[in-house]
Amino acid sequence: MSNIIKAYLGIGANLGDRAETLRQALVMLNDHDQIDVLAVSGVYETGPVGVLDQPDFLNATAEIETSLDGKALLDVLLETELHFGRKRIKKWGPRVLDLDILLYGLVLIDEPGLNVPHPYLHLRGFVLHPLCDLIPDAIHPTLERSFRSLLDEVDDGAVHRVDNLMLWHTH
Ligand code: AMP
Repeated sequence: MSNIIKAYLGIGANLGDRAETLRQALVMLNDHDQIDVLAVSGVYETGPVGVLDQPDFLNATAEIETSLDGKALLDVLLETELHFGRKRIKKWGPRVLDLDILLYGLVLIDEPGLNVPHPYLHLRGFVLHPLCDLIPDAIHPTLERSFRSLLDEVDDGAVHRVDNLMLWHTH
């Protein structure tokens, strides 16, 4: 693979067997010949944001290496969501699987349909908690603050780590 970038994906589910969906989605991503899953954070259970009358989410972060460019990586994520039957019924409503590009190396992407770093990354405990499992001291490319310090400022009362739940074995 040429020009390999390390990227961080937000992965979430709030319908069906949430942990199993996340596991299978990671296997499917890793099976792509231009994506390697390197590590996965702990799992966090989170009350819904925006639309409140829906089940809790399970959220985690995956560290990957990829030779895909940002847009091609997003296309793979959208295809993977569709494979798991995600229906876009309403914004911020329930979904079988939600995949986001949080970080794509230190690259800034600002295109129609793709914004990286993810615009809500620094505001959401359910994103920052799992990201801090992996890279707490890394610096947000535009805010120039560590993810740990950003997490310190987020009201994350609704986010709970789920113990004894493994999504991925790193060999
Ligand atoms: P949502 O369903 O709320 O997760 O939004 C999905 C849409 O957000 C996708 O169709 C993308 O075009 C757009 N989008 C913009 N930036 C990103 C990003 N960093 N990761 C994933 N989707 C993104």
